Amino acid sequence: MSMAEKRDYYEVLGLSKGASEDEIKKAYRKMAKKYHPDINKEPGAEEKFKEINEAYEVLSDPQKKATYDQFGFAGMDGAQGFGGGAGFGGFEDLSDIFGSFFGGGFGGGSRRASNGPRKGNDRFMQMRIDFMDAIFGKTETITIDVDEQCDECMGSGARSKSDVKSCSRCGGTGTVTQQQRTPFGVFQSQTVCPDCNGTGKTIAHKCPKCHGKGYEHKRVKLDIKIPAGIQSGQQVRVPNKGERGVNGGPNGDLYIEILVTRHNQFVRDGNDIRISVPISAIDATLGCKIDVPTVYGDVELTIPAGTQYGQQFRLKGKGVKSPRGSQGDQYVEITVEIPKKLSREEKELYEKIRNRKDHESPFEKFKNAFK
Ligand SMILES: [Zn+2]
Ligand SMILES: [Zn+2]
Repeated sequence: MSMAEKRDYYEVLGLSKGASEDEIKKAYRKMAKKYHPDINKEPGAEEKFKEINEAYEVLSDPQKKATYDQFGFAGMDGAQGFGGGAGFGGFEDLSDIFGSFFGGGFGGGSRRASNGPRKGNDRFMQMRIDFMDAIFGKTETITIDVDEQCDECMGSGARSKSDVKSCSRCGGTGTVTQQQRTPFGVFQSQTVCPDCNGTGKTIAHKCPKCHGKGYEHKRVKLDIKIPAGIQSGQQVRVPNKGERGVNGGPNGDLYIEILVTRHNQFVRDGNDIRISVPISAIDATLGCKIDVPTVYGDVELTIPAGTQYGQQFRLKGKGVKSPRGSQGDQYVEITVEIPKKLSREEKELYEKIRNRKDHESPFEKFKNAFK
């Protein structure tokens, strides 16, 4: 991508110059979610996503932002050598974006060099469950791979405390200062120390259990408790089962989005349930009692005489009990079936009713209104 083709970073995020740190973060989250290639399949979305990430990479970093504000792209390309954005796609990136919506480790990830403990990124996955399981709740067992902190060295990666030494190259700061010459002058930038990878520490003798990694890769079974009343699209949070933390920091969290399969008859409407029930024209005319299915079993419903097509009846408290405790209702919509075939006897009876002349038919009433 040449300089001329590039759009202004503020413009990319839909911001004006001088936008605050908070505004930049908000705009980025919104745009990144909209254009994430796992979500947005439109052509060009991926390009746009890369552009958004590149813009955020610069504007979220005070030093890079200052350079960009002063020199524009020229300052950027010369001083920092930005490429076309990092390679995105797949699970981790999605989790990074979604994690940020739940107060997860946004900014706690890998954006800034630091030698302190940092929480790992959140992970994101989806789980499909049955309609009834969403109403009554369920425990589902899943198997996932997770890096858990080594219990031998508590994440330090060292055999003992005395094996941890301050890094001599960076003096324990985890960063080294580099000078770069550009047409605009000499710029100083901080980069991760190559000797200690930003930890600020070197290890004399490694932990025998994890061989210095500080974590162990495990395949674990988790019982996921899905609360009764959950709605499609809601998330269940499993603490500490996200990506591993950095420098002894805790793991991120795992977020499971619940997708609820549709039911053939029941339709969920928030905490209410809707169902459509057919009755005969005669039952609608004369009234009747019917046993209506609900998620709690059949409930008797009295259909009054003269019930119209599409009329609704409420079965109070027969909806979904939400996780917060409120109770929905079930709405029963009546459809009236007009017989397509009649026995000779039925036909005679219908004729008999029709031939009575003591009331106007609906059509006669309609025509009389034109007179
Ligand atoms: Zn170092
Ligand atoms: Zn260990």
